[in-house]
Amino acid sequence: MTQEELFKNLIAHTKEYGFIFPSSDIYDGLSAVYDYGQMGSELKNNIKKYWWDAMTKLNENIVGIDSAIFMHPKIWKASGHVDAFNDPLIDNKDSKKRYRADVLLEDHIAKIEAKIEKEVEKGKKKFGDAFNEEQFRATNPNIQRNKEKIDQIKTKMADALNNNDLVALKQLILDCEIVDPISGTRNWTDVRQFNLMFSTQLGNISDESGILYLRPETAQGIFVNFLNVQKSGRMKIPFGIAQIGKAFRNEIVARQFIFRMREFEQMEMQFFVRPGEELKWFEKWRETRLKWHLAIGLGRENYRYHDHEKLAHYANAATDIEFNFPFGFKELEGIHSRTDFDLGRHQEFSGKKIQYFDPEQNTSYIPYVIETSIGLDRTFLALISAAYKQEKLENGEERVVMKFHPALAPVKVAVLPLTKKEELTAVAQKIMQELKFDFNCQYEEKDTIGKRYRRQDAIGTPYCVTVDFDSIQDGMVTLRERDSMSQERVPIEKIHPIVENKVSMKRLLEQI
Ligand code: ATP
Repeated sequence: MTQEELFKNLIAHTKEYGFIFPSSDIYDGLSAVYDYGQMGSELKNNIKKYWWDAMTKLNENIVGIDSAIFMHPKIWKASGHVDAFNDPLIDNKDSKKRYRADVLLEDHIAKIEAKIEKEVEKGKKKFGDAFNEEQFRATNPNIQRNKEKIDQIKTKMADALNNNDLVALKQLILDCEIVDPISGTRNWTDVRQFNLMFSTQLGNISDESGILYLRPETAQGIFVNFLNVQKSGRMKIPFGIAQIGKAFRNEIVARQFIFRMREFEQMEMQFFVRPGEELKWFEKWRETRLKWHLAIGLGRENYRYHDHEKLAHYANAATDIEFNFPFGFKELEGIHSRTDFDLGRHQEFSGKKIQYFDPEQNTSYIPYVIETSIGLDRTFLALISAAYKQEKLENGEERVVMKFHPALAPVKVAVLPLTKKEELTAVAQKIMQELKFDFNCQYEEKDTIGKRYRRQDAIGTPYCVTVDFDSIQDGMVTLRERDSMSQERVPIEKIHPIVENKVSMKRLLEQI
């Protein structure tokens, strides 16, 4: 099965089992907007809790806030979003479809890369065991030519984007002979800048001063509350402010399921430090954040750092943590050393002094900031795509199982009476009553036990408890573990400690 087919199956699975639905489904959906179903919202809440606790419980000097989505419009002037939060877009005059100019070029590059891979495959077949891939890649003339092409396009694209040269960007699209995938023509408009912020209007003001923006990131809510939190919490530098919340971006290219959405959630933490100490803290957060990811157990090989060589003018270090999504390595989290840019700009635009008096140094300064910014939905996507497994069983049957880390799994235990007989359901209900205060449990009595196991595998439940006729006599039940499918008889009173040991969030937090 190709990666693409696997990804399609995963998307269908998440809908069938209540993880993710297209928004407004009965109206045929709304592009790049999704709803989380009964399983999805549990999983999402568990991810949030893991992140929130890792920030606020493990670090005495990090506190969390929840700021409003609407903010004073001047904030987005100060942050640079009104003037520079743009994507270059281009329309095809025949299909009337709109594209991001840089994405058209990246897709074109991906096609050339695919040609290179095809050439390598051909070489493999031709030379068999004697095939030396490294040498082949370095010497094959077709590959060399295509590599050169890619380098040239990349350089020209970077220059055009950095210089905001929209004419050069269009020329590059023409030179690459890129055609619209729908109309098949090269009938392109000029490239224009398109601001990604959604705007709306305050009810009691009709002119431009009433324009409000839906926040495109949660970070600004933290910056503008710096003084409030520092003073009310008597926080001493270094300290951090964490926040989880919705952000909105009018993305032109919305695709790859929940990877790029128009409404999504971010988990951001801004860590305020002394000027001059920021690179030390940047390193610390770069390492700590990777540990947070690795504890989830999706495999070190699925993560990589992408250190930025070209930095935004206000940043002095930046890295992305990339994840190996079904469509390749892509950004999951950004970690940036943002100097005093944000607080400095808010000081300038608000006219309020935003400074910290450092009692140890006996001076006041605008603190420097290290930002860690992770997409909740992208973390969700990483989890489901790594957890989704189609397995062939010894008896020839197949099962689909979501191998979530037990601490993050939406349902922790399923309680299953073997049949609907009252002697059994009474015992099972009693077990439910004991477990439900601490764990998210499901009770199921319909269908064969095999079918019920399959349904629990499909949503990733770590444990199934089966009550049978022996249970009434000996007070023991069958405990089935999801991954190994092993079954053991355990006394009813042991279920709670066994499950707790397995699903406790502590297991994850201890590894950070
Ligand atoms: P990209 O380059 O993929 O557009 P970005 O660099 O614009 O991302 P940031 O502004 O650094 O992203 O946002 C921080 C995090 O928020 C990203 O690492 C990502 O996980 C998440 N994020 C950003 N845009 C979206 C989106 N449209 N949908 C879902 N998550 C997003």
